[in-house]
Amino acid sequence: MGSRAEYTKILGLEGYRVKQLTFDTEAPTPRLHIRIERRGVRGHACSGCRRRTWRVRDAKDRTWEDLPWGNLQVTLVYQQRRVRCPTCGIRTERIGFADPLARVTRRLRQLIGLDCQSMPTSHAAVRHGISWGKARRAERAFLQSWDAARPKRRPRHLGADEIQRGKGYRFWTVLTDLVHGEVLGLARDRTEASLTGLLTGCLDARQRAAVEAVCTDMHRPYLNAVAETLPKAEIVFDKFHVLQHASAALDEVRRHEFFRAGTVMRAVGRGKRWLLLRRWATVRGSKRRELQELFAANRRLFRAYVLREQLDRLWTYKKRTGVLNFLMGWFKALRWQRLPEMEGLGDFLLTHINGIAAYCDHAVRFGVVESVNATIKGVIRRARGMRDEQFLLLKLKWATARPIRSARDYRRFLSAEALHSNR
Ligand SMILES: [Zn+2]
Repeated sequence: MGSRAEYTKILGLEGYRVKQLTFDTEAPTPRLHIRIERRGVRGHACSGCRRRTWRVRDAKDRTWEDLPWGNLQVTLVYQQRRVRCPTCGIRTERIGFADPLARVTRRLRQLIGLDCQSMPTSHAAVRHGISWGKARRAERAFLQSWDAARPKRRPRHLGADEIQRGKGYRFWTVLTDLVHGEVLGLARDRTEASLTGLLTGCLDARQRAAVEAVCTDMHRPYLNAVAETLPKAEIVFDKFHVLQHASAALDEVRRHEFFRAGTVMRAVGRGKRWLLLRRWATVRGSKRRELQELFAANRRLFRAYVLREQLDRLWTYKKRTGVLNFLMGWFKALRWQRLPEMEGLGDFLLTHINGIAAYCDHAVRFGVVESVNATIKGVIRRARGMRDEQFLLLKLKWATARPIRSARDYRRFLSAEALHSNR
């Protein structure tokens, strides 16, 4: 058997030494209990305010799960004191290797937390020989400490969007930092109050003052919330949402021209909806020919299709007058076409021209809006049934911020002590 000094070296917990080892090899999972004690004691630190004191009220054995030694699961046993702190009253003694109230050591927590980002919590729990609940709490603590240690940024562009959750009409409002592509906050419903709460709760006054533009859809309550909370910020309408309206108008033309025009035409137009709603650039080969045949059968549908395709140019101008001139030209092309659906779309564009043309001055990254939305949907799908919204928000932040992009980042997360100093 080695000496206690050698065990202490293997354990490697600064400020603690091994007092006694107890092997429990009879259990289904062989376990090693390591009794440890402080060394070089100069008073006991209060877990509330870190102040040191000698006034100990009582002491009690407590246990923490730690990294395994070979195939032995390890439990640390330590007689933790309760101190009478002059400022906080009776508090437990501060422990260097674990957070207050945590039942796993900080270095094990880091491992579990990292594992949970690439595997289900249940798998991570089995892997580290702990219960599911402990693994979940460890993951939460891991994400919280990561989030708390991050610098506060001041994004110029924000995104406010609604996400449908589950079946039925239940929504979440998601606030995003569009410059860095990160989720900032999550709130129930899609009311004015939910966005106002996010803007005031997730951002401080300095951060709010730095916001130049907010990218959102045409949802009235959101516009009100932005106007009230961020009076200096400008609204930029999300390109994706605007084009969605255009596609809806095109679909209406298709319905009008084919389905309300007798059996023969109906047969021609059958099953072409998705093909028609796709952008010309993404249609290839035989599908292109199919589309051309459809247009040959109905010129008005072709006109509507071209008019929609042209709308892409709304976001190519450097000056707002350019956008307006383009829209006027678009209206001109529409004249005498007898396409009431597209005329309706034109009216819609004209009433929202400010939010569309605002893109000239605030080139919001529309691609980020879409990629963040896709990430959010993925996380929500994997976390289905997750009741804890704070936890879901942490998961979303992690998934969109992608803090691990290289082996070096990974190593940084493994060494918990470097990130969160004990002292
Ligand atoms: Zn204290």
